[in-house]
Amino acid sequence: MDQEKNIFSDGAMLVKNGKIADLGGAADMKEMYPDESCQDMCGDIIMPGMINTHTHAPMVLFRGLADDLPLKAWLEKYIWPMEKKMVNADFVKWGVRLAMMEMIASGTTCFSDMYFFEDAAAEAVNGAGMRALLGEGVIDFPTPDAATPEEEMRRLSDLAAKWKGNDNVRISVCAHSPYTCSPDLLLKTKKLADKLKTVHHIHVAETKGERDSIAASLSGESPVKFLQRLDILDASTLAAHCVWTDAEDINILAECGVNVAHNPSSNLKLASGTAPVADMLKNGVNVSLGTDGAASNNNLDMFREMRMAALIHKGASLDPEACGAYDVLEMATINGARALSWTPLLRT
Ligand SMILES: [Zn+2]
Repeated sequence: MDQEKNIFSDGAMLVKNGKIADLGGAADMKEMYPDESCQDMCGDIIMPGMINTHTHAPMVLFRGLADDLPLKAWLEKYIWPMEKKMVNADFVKWGVRLAMMEMIASGTTCFSDMYFFEDAAAEAVNGAGMRALLGEGVIDFPTPDAATPEEEMRRLSDLAAKWKGNDNVRISVCAHSPYTCSPDLLLKTKKLADKLKTVHHIHVAETKGERDSIAASLSGESPVKFLQRLDILDASTLAAHCVWTDAEDINILAECGVNVAHNPSSNLKLASGTAPVADMLKNGVNVSLGTDGAASNNNLDMFREMRMAALIHKGASLDPEACGAYDVLEMATINGARALSWTPLLRT
């Protein structure tokens, strides 16, 4: 993929030392590189690795645990109690290993994770040679690996120091959401993300319940407006979901340069709704794709996610041009690289 959106239907690619050195039409490339050995890939597609910008990788071990539920009941009655009982560093290590097998098998080479014991995740990712942006989920109650949000943030700082300069692993700061983090905690997580010069990853406007409860307590404000008022939205924000966003919210997301991680399967499975992605793209919002955790999907296959994104917005908007094939391919690849601010991945 390139800025000119060239598609080489009879093309060739030069690979040197495991990296793409050049590409173009097959005849031109043969003339330019007559001495290179050639492998016929006819019938195959050569495309960039996909970037899953919102997941909770170890949750593959909870796949199928609680189906056919809305987010609130799913989280409060099943996921959070199970995490309290079962999640430890070993759970994360094996969960991430299993998740990576599933991701690699379906063409994903990089992912952005929000979970706990992320050092165990980082060791697994680095060992496998995948790439990942990993962050401990900070929330206003005890988690499996921290009694307080302050402890979780100390862990994040330690992780960032440990993995600084690593080619495969980067550390983000994850605030769970505006409905589980106090305004004070959101300001602290954003400040930490700025200090570490990294992505601030957060669930935003996932459900109608979230939008309604924030509006009820904050004189009608939407989650996006609330976060803007806190002055924590900018180009380092990775906002997962953004389902319950209106035209004013979309303008804010575009003006602040917020990156949206769209998770169509998860939003459908939990009956959260359909994010207005076609309007976001029209207004210049950088929209990437994510699977969310396998327990709310129930898989980590980005090809399925692309298909879902390409279809549901056509149906929802009655516009067959909404979220075209190339738009969706960009969402799964180059938009993801932008969302993670991972510059080397932009050269896809
Ligand atoms: Zn999520």
